[in-house]
Amino acid sequence: MPDKLYLIKEGEISLKGGNRNLFEKRLRQNIKDKLGSYGVSIGKQKGRIYLGIDESAPDQEVEKALKTTFGITGFARAYTTEKDIEAMRETARQILPLSDFASGKGTFKIDARREDKSFPLSSYDISVDLASTVHEMYPELEVDLKNPDHTLHVEVRKEVYMYTDSRKGPGGLPVQTAGRGMILLSGGIDSPVAAISMAKRGMKLDCIYFHAYPYTSELALEKVKKLASLIAPYLGGTRLYVVPFTDGQLRIKKLAYEDETTLMFRASMMQTAQKLATARKACAIVTGEALSQVASQTLEAMSFTDSMTDLLVLRPLVGMDKEEIIGISKEIGTYETSILPYEDCCVIFSPKHPITHPVKEVVRRHYEALGMDEEIDKAIAATQVFYFNPMGQEEERNSMPDSDGEDSGRV
Ligand code: ATP
Ligand code: MG
Repeated sequence: MPDKLYLIKEGEISLKGGNRNLFEKRLRQNIKDKLGSYGVSIGKQKGRIYLGIDESAPDQEVEKALKTTFGITGFARAYTTEKDIEAMRETARQILPLSDFASGKGTFKIDARREDKSFPLSSYDISVDLASTVHEMYPELEVDLKNPDHTLHVEVRKEVYMYTDSRKGPGGLPVQTAGRGMILLSGGIDSPVAAISMAKRGMKLDCIYFHAYPYTSELALEKVKKLASLIAPYLGGTRLYVVPFTDGQLRIKKLAYEDETTLMFRASMMQTAQKLATARKACAIVTGEALSQVASQTLEAMSFTDSMTDLLVLRPLVGMDKEEIIGISKEIGTYETSILPYEDCCVIFSPKHPITHPVKEVVRRHYEALGMDEEIDKAIAATQVFYFNPMGQEEERNSMPDSDGEDSGRV
């Protein structure tokens, strides 16, 4: 079967000077990791990526893949034709009925670009000519060069590329160009948004979930797995580490001052995450905390939890309102899952009056007195790993090479 073609625009990558090649190579690899099973071929010309993919690839799947690939600012299904104005008119006649032009209503523009200056017609000539073709087909459409409802793009390069209906990509930088981190993924609204905010800047992320079964239910774990699968396309695939922390929680509940239990739990999460991160050669921990959202998210409390790890702790949502975070979670499609009513931390572990302004040195001493090291090591030894591929599907471990992911594109 012949390939269909997508034209992809890269964003900030084009500013990356000497590293540009590396960024572009990574972007192409990230696209292949998602769509490779359809036999993709990827070419490049002046700030554009040309993705050829087998006709059998479902449009929706290609769109999902491209919409979740950071580094892409826009894309469109494109058609090639010969460098001949009659061939271009004929292509317009074929593709416009498949596009939003077909409504026959509103305004339009022909956006022609002649990159190949040997082509005898100027960009303006091409626009005027194809505008007549559009008028023949849809007499009610009016030209509006400033704010058109529909645009037919024509690019005269080695061949002529024509496309309508261009879609927005997610922008950002390709994942795996900015080091590796671990996101503390709970079942809430915030942490999936935090993960995606960092992935957008090129970070490769694995997820860690602390599970206190049976105090947190199987359904809570299923919910976190679902969230991992929803964010996996943005993350270019991810691992979910499920740390069984019931004994750790019970030890904290038994030995800690009641108003400090949340802080103690957070301190042990940091220490556990650091160990898992180090094994994975990750150098940062990401959380969904926002300043003053809850008692453990005051400056003093966050400063204390920071002090429990040597790794960089990133909180991309720290200055955001809940409403803004909810807006993003709706955009990325995690909101509906995040609000499912399975509590991710059982009330029995939450103090009635949590301390909000801890003195770091004091609570550190209290934490050290709990002797959590053994519980943490035990929990890590019993940690389960789930794998989600770059299209968001869960995969068996043995079907994915256990590489460190530095250059394989695998998770
Ligand atoms: P919500 O959206 O309801 O605020 P949340 O996920 O932000 O949910 P918080 O209690 O505010 O929950 O926790 C702050 C951050 O701590 C989370 O964003 C997440 O990064 C991390 N976290 C909390 N609980 C867990 C857990 N059980 N496992 C992993 N990370 C967790
Ligand atoms: Mg929160």
